Amino acid sequence: MKIWLDGGLQDTESARVSVFDHGLTVGDGIFETVKAVDGRPFALTRHLDRLTRSARGLGLPDPDLDEVRRACAAVLEANPMPLGRLRLTYTGGYGPLGSDRGDRGPTLVVALGGTTRRPDSTAVVTVPWTRNERGALTGLKTTSYAENVVALARAHEHGASEALFGNTVGQLCEGTGSNVFVVLDGELHTPPLASGCLAGITRALAVEWTGAKETDLPLDVLERAEEVFLTSTLRDVQAVHRVDDRELPGAPGPVTAKAMRIFDERSGADLDP
Ligand code: PLP
Repeated sequence: MKIWLDGGLQDTESARVSVFDHGLTVGDGIFETVKAVDGRPFALTRHLDRLTRSARGLGLPDPDLDEVRRACAAVLEANPMPLGRLRLTYTGGYGPLGSDRGDRGPTLVVALGGTTRRPDSTAVVTVPWTRNERGALTGLKTTSYAENVVALARAHEHGASEALFGNTVGQLCEGTGSNVFVVLDGELHTPPLASGCLAGITRALAVEWTGAKETDLPLDVLERAEEVFLTSTLRDVQAVHRVDDRELPGAPGPVTAKAMRIFDERSGADLDP
């Protein structure tokens, strides 16, 4: 496998970043996961816009998007696969121990892993920990993901593939790596960005393509929603058939099935929607 590091392709086994890289020592970094179908990235422009927004939010220099595009193309060409996930990581770079950044500039790594199409439906659990809708990192796709790692482990303990968070004021927010949609009285809703969720790219496309409403939703909406689904780069639109102990028989229900169909049709037709 080849990855992009220090301005060119390198062998994954021998590529090295400093043990003092701020991404490693203090989680000072941002990332994107981009789906690649037959060697072509999906929605790359939207991902690069979010990468730039995350960099600005962290006070990192703007990434050189020409280099990032070249890196993605080179890595995809060097590692052909039918369905892959590009992982773009951009950190504060080499620095002294402590929270101050060094002055050697950021580190950019672009790697590619394989992935498989997710099942049509899945189980989720809610977790008691909250997302902070007003934190310094809210809405940024940072590498500080340990909270998600802990929550996902909880989900796996309960035979689920995703954990859902509320925020500090008891509203539904998002999953560890996905956004959430619910159907109430036949209408589709998703929490607004002000809930503290990530501005998911799949979420934005689903809102644009289905007309879902962005609505403040109490966490207990999950006890009565007629349908629930998740969106993310790697799940696309995925129905939920169980929330905690509550079964949602027949998932995907009609609204979810329609969203899945619309997403498949439109995302297949346009690689950079
Ligand atoms: N929320 C979080 C916390 C995420 O990490 C992700 C993706 O990794 C998402 C939502 C979904 O975003 P996207 O649709 O851009 O993959």
